[in-house]
Amino acid sequence: MRGISPDLWTIHPHPLNGEILSSWMVRLAHAYGYKVQTFYNLVFGRRIEIWNRDIDRSASIELLEALARHTGTPFEVVKATTLAAYEGSVFDYHDPNRYTHWVLPAGIYHRKRRRFSMQYCSVCLAIGEIPYFRRFWRLGFITRCPEHGNLLKDCCSTCGAPVVFHRAELGRRWETAPVSIRLCWKCRADLAHETVEVREPIDWKTSVARKNLWLFAELGWGFAEKRTLQYARLYFEPLWMICHALLGKPGRWNASTRPIAALPFPEFENYLPRLGRRAHMLDYRIADRDAVIELALWVLEDFPSRLMAFAKPMRICFSHFANGREEKDISGWLELSAEKWRIATAISRKRVQEVPSASSS
Ligand SMILES: [Zn+2]
Ligand SMILES: [Zn+2]
Repeated sequence: MRGISPDLWTIHPHPLNGEILSSWMVRLAHAYGYKVQTFYNLVFGRRIEIWNRDIDRSASIELLEALARHTGTPFEVVKATTLAAYEGSVFDYHDPNRYTHWVLPAGIYHRKRRRFSMQYCSVCLAIGEIPYFRRFWRLGFITRCPEHGNLLKDCCSTCGAPVVFHRAELGRRWETAPVSIRLCWKCRADLAHETVEVREPIDWKTSVARKNLWLFAELGWGFAEKRTLQYARLYFEPLWMICHALLGKPGRWNASTRPIAALPFPEFENYLPRLGRRAHMLDYRIADRDAVIELALWVLEDFPSRLMAFAKPMRICFSHFANGREEKDISGWLELSAEKWRIATAISRKRVQEVPSASSS
């Protein structure tokens, strides 16, 4: 291949700020004027499997090292383009073959993707000098663009297909030129030309909390209630739990009796029938997930007093909150909040016990 040496490639754009691996790999191929599949078949042969898996979750060290070597990019920078880089910050442990908290699953079946795992902001795609896809667009708690505030999209609005930009050239043998990363792989609509939807936050605090979600994920640490959280997952774990507490257990509710219906926001009732009987927060499409996240952030304001006020209708207790952890393992904000929670629960239990004994005497 002309211009592609075994070591440093002549043309080697580096990952852009926050870029996800697959996006960078597509841009690398296009920089040479090659279609994606052709380029990587020529470079790696069949030695490394790439596009029949969720490469952003499961890229091998061998692949990452090869890309680092060929592009003159530090290995740590290359690794940071993968979702595994969120290990320890967004989630405890990364297993590429299992559901991971907050990482949107691609639902790969053979070479197809059945799930809507890649979100995007049309404005970000449109205004950047070089369009590219961000790593944080794969996180389930990110539903609005931290920069532009609009609701992200999780599919092509024209044909409804999931976003799989590396597939745009697949099966079109008569075409030799690369296809822009901005175009829908199925109908070729320009994802940067979608109309955007802006949703009003419940209050300014949830608006700030939204931005913090993105900030915590990118920094790897966070803060809450004037406390520093050494690991951002100490925020994302309770958020996960609250979202599922709001949704309730599938099979045990109907739309009007779900815990989410106990919150004083009738405007969100529109979402309740649509939420359906899904087992998992990540099973929801972006518009519904956005509504649940908004309510969860509101419940988490003034933590844990507001949460405790809704604990009964939401049917949650400290054991949910501790999420199976030993109390000694709960640190930072969680530790303080858990302690407040435990004390408040103990007081309320004591009150409940005292009432019948007073009335029976
Ligand atoms: Zn944006
Ligand atoms: Zn389309």
